[in-house]
Formats: sequence, C-alpha cells, structure tokens
Amino acid sequence: MATAGSTAPEYNVTGIDYSDRRHFRYSGPLIDIHAHVFQTRPGDPKDGPPLGQGPGATLDQAALMLETAEDFGVVRVYSMCPADDIEPLRERFGDRLGFNGPISKKLDEPDDVAYRLLDRYLELGVEIIKFWAAPRGRDRGLLVDTPWRIECARRARAAGLRRIMVHVADPDVWFKRQYADVAKYGTKLDQYRGLERLLTEFSDVTWIAAHMGGDPEHPDHLEALLERYPNLNFDTSATKWQVREVSAHRECIRDVVLRHPDRFLFGSDLVTRHTLVREHYASRYWCERTLWESAWEGRSPIADPDYEPEPNGPTTPPLLGLALPQEVLEKVYYANARRLCPPTLNVERSNVERSQK
Ligand SMILES: [Zn+2]
Repeated sequence: MATAGSTAPEYNVTGIDYSDRRHFRYSGPLIDIHAHVFQTRPGDPKDGPPLGQGPGATLDQAALMLETAEDFGVVRVYSMCPADDIEPLRERFGDRLGFNGPISKKLDEPDDVAYRLLDRYLELGVEIIKFWAAPRGRDRGLLVDTPWRIECARRARAAGLRRIMVHVADPDVWFKRQYADVAKYGTKLDQYRGLERLLTEFSDVTWIAAHMGGDPEHPDHLEALLERYPNLNFDTSATKWQVREVSAHRECIRDVVLRHPDRFLFGSDLVTRHTLVREHYASRYWCERTLWESAWEGRSPIADPDYEPEPNGPTTPPLLGLALPQEVLEKVYYANARRLCPPTLNVERSNVERSQK
C-alpha cells in the first residue's frame, strides 16, 4: 500500500500488475471518444499540452499510446489536436484515429480567427468539434455560449457537422478550492446555464458533455439533464475523477447508466506527452475498464491530488467496479460512438487519397 512521500510513479502507486485482467468481463471492441493524440517534441512542457511547434516532432508517443489502447481492445480513438497534426497522424494511423477540432481563440483576437480555425478543421474532415469552457477559461473569454462559439455551431451545422463536445464543469472539490471565488467563477450549477441554452437552441445537434457531464458527484443532476435534453450524451473520460466519484456514488451512477444506456460513451482523456511510458497509458485504460465492467474492489492505483485521504489512511481513493451488464457495455464501449459518429465519407475519401499517393 502506498504511503505518504512514496516515490512510486503517479500511474502506479499501489504496484498493480496492469497485465492482470482476469476480472475483465468484456471481450468486444471499444471506441475511445475522448483523447488528445498529438505529435510530441523534446521541448514540450512536462505537464501541459504539447506546444504544437518547434523542431523534432515525432509520432512515437502516438504509436505507443495507440498500441496500448489496442492491447485493451480499443479499436478507434478520437483525438483533439491542433489542425497541423491531423494529416501526419492520419497518414500514419489511418482509420484507427478520428478527429475532434477544438474551437478557441485568444481574448484579444477577432472572431474571424475562430471561424477560420473551424473552416480548417472542416476541410480536414473532423467528425466532432469541441468547445472547452472550463471555469478557469472564463477570464480568457472561453464561455461555452459566447457569441463566436454560437456562430461556429451555426456554421458547423450548416456545413453538415452536427456533433459538438463540451467541457463545462470541473470536480466539486475544485469549486471548494481553486474556484472558491464565486464572483469570478460562478457556482458549479452556473456552469450549466450556457450549455442548456445551446442544447435548446441546437436541438438538432448531438452534444457530448465530457467527463460524465462534469458532474459525477451528482447523478440526479446528470439524469435530469438527460431527461430534459434528448440530444445530450456524456463521455466517461478523466480517469482519476471518474474513479474517485463514480466509485463514491456507485449505485446511483449505475442506475442512471442502466436507465439511459444509449447516452454514455467510453473515453479516457489520455494525452500523449513526449516522455510518457507505456504503463501511464495502460493505467488509464485498466482503471476505466475495471470501473465500468468489473466487480473489482480496491484502491485506485493512480495518484489523485483531489482525493482527501483519512489520517494515516491510503493515499488513493477506493475503486469500486460497477459491473455493468454485457448489453450495456456493448453500447457504452462501442455501439453508441458508432451510432453517433458513423464512418464518414471524409474518412473514406482520405483513404482513397492515401491509396492514390
Ligand atoms: Zn480532454
């Protein structure tokens, strides 16, 4: 068991053997709807997202991550990445990757910067666009329903792209700590006003709210949203957060998923970084699968800075598997993503172009 001050790596503080998967109960394919597969470079920040520029770009980490994903049955990964990374990634990995274009701009840039970015992603054949609108993005103007994003949603819809992923909220504990200034960040519930406005105005668009809609702490809130908005879906990504809170609300979350099995999509939120090792990628897939499909009970193997341990207690939260039934796993792991993101002409066209080179 890990103790305070342990030097064990963040991806395995309890010494789990990630090749031990005897508790897994699902043998079909999975689709990871939420990941960040980039080119990486030696000069990238250690913890932040890759810079997307500079010399020495390599796809080695992307290859390592996709190899690890495949080892866990993941046959297709949707990547949010800079537009410049899409062609090299597609060239190397083909249909194993789908793409999601994050639409943002700096506060002082004209709206046209966002529209040009959208155009570029549309030309590159992304299947989803993303509005990242976490509370910490507010002072940078990254609200989910800011006018230039609404215009991007309109333009995407007019171009035939009707899938938008959003990130609107963060863990409850963040609202107690880093977002304690309510005047600046708003309450957690305030984060949902803009999303609900978009869900209403764009009722013909498929919405995927990332990280269990940002609210695994409140299964009743998630269910109310699902019932109010038939165009809304949730992904299961952000492993540490979901392990901690889904385990803590195991029965209630399980009931919501069972009542709405068509509305949840498997995701990891893995990010390729220049110096990561295979076990880092394995830890997230192992934990996500253990959480949803198995009856495993133990301590999470991943270090979690948002967990408040008991005095002298284990440093990582409990991981309590939901043991979802097979027919539900088939939907959450694969069929829902396939239905919402069917193989597109764009992918087929890019295959044809590749074969003609
Ligand atoms: Zn993400």
